[in-house]
Amino acid sequence: MCLSLNENLEKLSNACGVAGRENEVRELMIQLMKPYADEIVVDKLENVIAIKKGKSPAPKIMLAAHMDEVGLMVKTITKEGFLQFTKTGGIDDRILPAQKVTIFSRKRAFPGIIGSKPPHIQKEDERKKVMAFDELFIDIGAESKEDALALGVAVGDPVGFDIKYVQLGRDVVMGKAFDNRAGCVAMIETLKMLEKTDYTVCAVGTVQEEVGLRGAATAAFGVDPDLAIALDVTVAGDTPGIREFDTSTKIGKGPALSISDSGLITHPKVLRWLLDSAEEEKIPYQIEAGLMGSTDAARIYLTRQGIPSGNISIATRYIHSPVSVLCLKDIENAAKLTVAAIQRISKYF
Ligand SMILES: [Zn+2]
Repeated sequence: MCLSLNENLEKLSNACGVAGRENEVRELMIQLMKPYADEIVVDKLENVIAIKKGKSPAPKIMLAAHMDEVGLMVKTITKEGFLQFTKTGGIDDRILPAQKVTIFSRKRAFPGIIGSKPPHIQKEDERKKVMAFDELFIDIGAESKEDALALGVAVGDPVGFDIKYVQLGRDVVMGKAFDNRAGCVAMIETLKMLEKTDYTVCAVGTVQEEVGLRGAATAAFGVDPDLAIALDVTVAGDTPGIREFDTSTKIGKGPALSISDSGLITHPKVLRWLLDSAEEEKIPYQIEAGLMGSTDAARIYLTRQGIPSGNISIATRYIHSPVSVLCLKDIENAAKLTVAAIQRISKYF
């Protein structure tokens, strides 16, 4: 297993990139992509674009990996000094109680814990239902609202989950925000493996995907590519209780090529191009169809007069929860497939 891939994922996973506060991840992406790029540009919405120039003026390819992650935001501070919060991106309320979090105030980052009414004093019907996020609060140990304000907390501060990267199995790792640091790492690996390219590649770390594919919209307009691939994660269906019908992808079985999700029917030429590239290079892959949710590719697809787009995804367990699990080999194979595809562009476009 490629050591740098593991190290890069650890660094990026431990960094905080709650949507709207991607700066920590962006700085790392700049640092990690720089050795393999001819130019790095940060656009007005703060997407980061690493450009690797090719000899031919066209086709130009855009890779997109979103840098943001789901998290929380301080909404109100109670007079007792507890922080009530809203959600940034899709998070299941059931996983929130008792999570360790980090509040990123303007001055500094400090720890907190998501508290709730303990079961001992809940009524029977309360115990049966899920506590909604607006019934929960973050305890930062403040004695009052004034105390919390004096610590530096403010309404609007982003809140991330406090989870550190851990190796589980030989190639299986656990950490925060693999959605979508996995795609970010696959994009860095792609630039690294690509060495020279005949075609210009713009590798874009996008912002605010989790709140509506926003950064991808302006980045795609600015880059104006001829085709695009989003590198992201997909729901792994290999844990107890998931039907094959719901999702069939498994970790360690290769990157997933999506035929359709709720935002995109992959452009037929792009799908053929990716499938042939995987087959010819004997890269393992999986197919998925009809999954709920979508990626940056859905937004890029509808940019300007239309940009043929597709996804290469890494099957990941427990996405949109504080901690996720994936197999590093899938990231490596996603990068290999992206490189194989770029090298074959002229046969298809
Ligand atoms: Zn994602």
